[in-house]
Amino acid sequence: MKVYKFGGASVKDVKSIENFVEIVSQFKTKKCLIVVSAMGKMTNAFEEIVDAYFKSTSILSDKITFVKKYHFTILDTLFKDEKQLIFDEISQIFLQISGFLATNTNKDHNYVYDQVVSNAEIISTKILSHYLKTKNVNNVWLDAREYIKTDKSYRRANVDFEQTKTTIKSIHVNAIYITQGFIAQAKSGETTTLGREGSDYSAAIFASCLHAKSLTIFKDVAGVLNADPKRFDNTILLEKISYKEAIEMTFYGASVIHPKTIRPLKNAAIPLYVKSFVNPNLTGTVIKNNVQMHPKAPCFIEKKTQILISITTKDFSFIDEKNISEIFGWMHTFRLKANLIQNTAISFTICLEDIFNTFSKFLEQLQVNYKGKYNTDVKLVTIRHFTQDSIAEIEKINKVLLKQTTRETVQFVVK
Ligand code: ASP
Repeated sequence: MKVYKFGGASVKDVKSIENFVEIVSQFKTKKCLIVVSAMGKMTNAFEEIVDAYFKSTSILSDKITFVKKYHFTILDTLFKDEKQLIFDEISQIFLQISGFLATNTNKDHNYVYDQVVSNAEIISTKILSHYLKTKNVNNVWLDAREYIKTDKSYRRANVDFEQTKTTIKSIHVNAIYITQGFIAQAKSGETTTLGREGSDYSAAIFASCLHAKSLTIFKDVAGVLNADPKRFDNTILLEKISYKEAIEMTFYGASVIHPKTIRPLKNAAIPLYVKSFVNPNLTGTVIKNNVQMHPKAPCFIEKKTQILISITTKDFSFIDEKNISEIFGWMHTFRLKANLIQNTAISFTICLEDIFNTFSKFLEQLQVNYKGKYNTDVKLVTIRHFTQDSIAEIEKINKVLLKQTTRETVQFVVK
């Protein structure tokens, strides 16, 4: 069996849904599992519902209406002729969301986020599964939460692989299955999510637990490129890359695949194909074991909205291991992610990411014993397999605040 994953852009409107149906109906194997994201930018729109719920309730109903309208416009066009059961099913989900928001007493933003935002995937897969059926593509809809089990780290839940393996193994894939990416479930039953863009990771988890022949991720680009085509000219398609290379690239911020995707695939030696949903017949990129990157080219990776902080002791003493472990302890507590570190005798510099808006709390804690000077909204630029020309290209257009070089990789924090 094979696993496929379609992201939001590939099902963002009626035209792209028709394209999705076309691709699926051409699959040679009918034994497959298809993981689908929320439609278009619906995850962002659901995030706005949660923000409104906590911050400005006056616009809450507008935010819900926007999301509802988006889906019902698609439904109206897809199912022009008959009012199908699917309309009731989707209406029911919106009633549940409103009911949840009206009665919820839990103040944890991350908890509410997962209970609400996860509906974007449920809605999208219900619509697609239903539409495929009307096009004579028989399929079985699965609720991914019954299979992917996690802890309760809402918005970035950690997968319990033992339990997940057992539940996924109970699926006997003898038909086309449609399920959601991104969403999962804590043991106590609450919905959790795996982090933004987490559907790739979901697909990799399903693929590895089902011992799939391959995983194919359909994207709006031709495959894995050596840079983001929206940011760089003359990008090159990487036809082959190793798992190791892919892990490095995604770790540094290559957004084409979610960073956690590769590990489950590597462990089960399942090749990953990254292809264009616009031209699915093109080969795209294959990521697997024992291949040299081909063609070999410098790869540019950018991570935006970083914070660069330099920490010194108040009494001019050295920053030693004890200080570093204390600082990292707080970073762990506040769920801040360090993307680059550098230290000198009296200062310790970290380029970090404030995903959960906790930086100010971290700073408060830090400033009791240390001094911290920082720049917000900086960018981390990484070049894998750098050349002098590629370095010059970055240095020419950016103000470099920090540069770090290893054998294969150079990184810059730039303003
Ligand atoms: N829908 C989620 C997001 O936009 C997960 C995904 O698409 O991978 O982040």
